Amino acid sequence: MPSEKDNDDVVRVDFAFRRELAEKVEGNLASFCYQCGACVGDCPATTYSSEFNPREIMLKVLYGLGDELIGGDSILWQCVNCYNCHERCPQEVKPVEVIISLKNMMADRGIYPPAVKKIIHTFETTGRTVPLSDAINRKREKLGLPPLEPVPMDEIEKLFEPLEEEGEE
Ligand code: SF4
Ligand code: SF4
Repeated sequence: MPSEKDNDDVVRVDFAFRRELAEKVEGNLASFCYQCGACVGDCPATTYSSEFNPREIMLKVLYGLGDELIGGDSILWQCVNCYNCHERCPQEVKPVEVIISLKNMMADRGIYPPAVKKIIHTFETTGRTVPLSDAINRKREKLGLPPLEPVPMDEIEKLFEPLEEEGEE
């Protein structure tokens, strides 16, 4: 009889993946998930996608199944960062912040969809995620709002400078 060790179907926790994620999410929040599913009920991404389920994402995080979460066709980009799951979770797991950290891990590896690449380029060149246009300012004028001014790019460029080591002279 094959031992459990020899069985390829056994799910093995990828601790390296969990450690990498834990460094990004303050407090290693995913560890407190007890799979109640409360985060699913008010999730708009779940409403519109049969594939997306924050409870299942947290389960994969608990198992350390990084390969199923991080990849070119990752479902994580379907999350719209609405924070409904955060408000519903009785364990204060903050699934949305776990998902954002997973997206950051993908970005660190240069894996993101073309639409996100376009937003990054717009931010790097204009300091905004949506480019400023006359149409936007006309709408603002109708609403009695002041026009938006261009973003000072020297301040944005500072964001891309490597952070100095903490405590470095
Ligand atoms: S933040 Fe993402 S996972 Fe959470 S409820 Fe909204 S869409 Fe769903
Ligand atoms: S609501 Fe919180 S504890 Fe419940 S499944 Fe979702 S993340 Fe886990």
